[in-house]
Amino acid sequence: RGGQAEKEIPFAKPGSLTRVYAVASGKGGVGKSSVTVNLAAALADSGLRVGVVDADIYGFSVPRMLGVERRPTQVDDMILPPDSHGVKVISIGMFVPGNQPVVWRGPMLHRALQQFLGDVFWGDLDVLLLDLPPGTGDIAISVAQLIPNAEILVVTTPQQAAAEVAERAGAIALQTKQRIAGVIENMSWLELPDGTRQEIFGSGGGHAVAESLTRSVGAEVALLGQIPLDVTLREGADAGMPVVLGRPDAPAAVALRGIARGL
Ligand code: ADP
Repeated sequence: RGGQAEKEIPFAKPGSLTRVYAVASGKGGVGKSSVTVNLAAALADSGLRVGVVDADIYGFSVPRMLGVERRPTQVDDMILPPDSHGVKVISIGMFVPGNQPVVWRGPMLHRALQQFLGDVFWGDLDVLLLDLPPGTGDIAISVAQLIPNAEILVVTTPQQAAAEVAERAGAIALQTKQRIAGVIENMSWLELPDGTRQEIFGSGGGHAVAESLTRSVGAEVALLGQIPLDVTLREGADAGMPVVLGRPDAPAAVALRGIARGL
């Protein structure tokens, strides 16, 4: 693509009607990708036009979780994203052969994200979700530069140590002047057969992150919901069928649908 002009990013144009959410977390393994794909599937199921950019370049997992089997196709100079469960998806995982690791430096990550946003034919979208890599790295800054109006969704677990790291991921929005759409607590408890809740990872992390970000931003940052540990969520992810679609009555699905409705 040497020398070719960079394409305009439609979502960054003033007056764009697409709501863009960048899903961020402090640490890996807290369920950021699971939350992204389930919110996307729930929003698409409610009739919205939804796209997902898997920007977790080194840890991409969105195609599997959404059961995307096709690869992107190229028409003229645009890339057509495959879709699954009504969600259009693009991921670096679609461009690397087999299960090879991605070994790239910062500037290449920026360029990949630019192509995902500018060279992919998304059509009109109501919502675009970006699954960011964990932490406060290059990609979060690239997102802020490329789509300044992207809002941040912070995913954390209830654990205090995880919450502190999540606060740092959210606080990057202060520097980039992005809006924080809210905090989502995942793995909040496990419901036992007798109906009691076992708090495997402790409690309070989601509230702590929301309160701390509210203080530092100087505006209300809400805890949008708590998602319980739920084996059907993990099974759905492994099978490429988001739990909100495959098992809509499961506890995690009910929580995720509630969060999607509130966005
Ligand atoms: P991240 O994107 O933050 O690295 P993932 O979404 O990949 O995290 O989730 C990590 C693992 O935990 C996956 O195996 C996923 O299926 C599982 N998982 C995430 N959230 C839940 C939950 N609420 N209940 C059960 N398993 C979950």
